[in-house]
Amino acid sequence: MWSVKVVGLGVVALSLSLELLVRFLRRLRPGRILNEVLFFPSDLACVEHLFSPSSPRSCLCSLPHGVETSFSRLLRHILSATSSLDLCVFAFSNMDLCRAILALHSKGVIIRVVTDKDYAAITGSQIGILRKSGICVRCGVGSVYMHHKFVVVDHRLLVTGSLNWTLTAVQSNMENILITEEPQLVQPFIKEFHRLWVHSDPARYLHSSDQKPAQSELRREL
Ligand SMILES: [Zn+2]
Repeated sequence: MWSVKVVGLGVVALSLSLELLVRFLRRLRPGRILNEVLFFPSDLACVEHLFSPSSPRSCLCSLPHGVETSFSRLLRHILSATSSLDLCVFAFSNMDLCRAILALHSKGVIIRVVTDKDYAAITGSQIGILRKSGICVRCGVGSVYMHHKFVVVDHRLLVTGSLNWTLTAVQSNMENILITEEPQLVQPFIKEFHRLWVHSDPARYLHSSDQKPAQSELRREL
């Protein structure tokens, strides 16, 4: 009886040791996969240095400087894009985030945006500014909301959560975002973005009366 208990304890100890060893080796692994969680509302701080890294001390605004916040972390991840940025967001009125997208666009990063057609037209929306700058924006089709809030950076990094790209969401609401490079999480979002991008292509609906949105798309979120 005792020998069974000893063997059992030994197995448990061995499995715990192996798990600890695996965790330790993962920490040592170079190029560790990024995982980060941010909560909002964000503290207020100047983010000018993120747009002008060559002159970080030139800003004279009254906000705190040199402070890392949830919003500055988010901006850093967005600005890390070097080749592509696929954004799927319900409401977009945050001017700093718009500035970040325009900065990436001017550097040649390929930007694609899918948004909600009703919220694209509300006062303060930055969608018109994106379009005027030449960024391709498509709106969700049908009467349901395009309610996603996610972005895929360079087909590598996923940012997803409850956060709309608005000033209220960033500075007032209780929100969360998850930032991850886990391929198992990033890949489904790449696939979903592609599906929505194709589905919301205006060319699909230009010349056909028989391609109206399905009845299932006519339900409104309550
Ligand atoms: Zn400042």
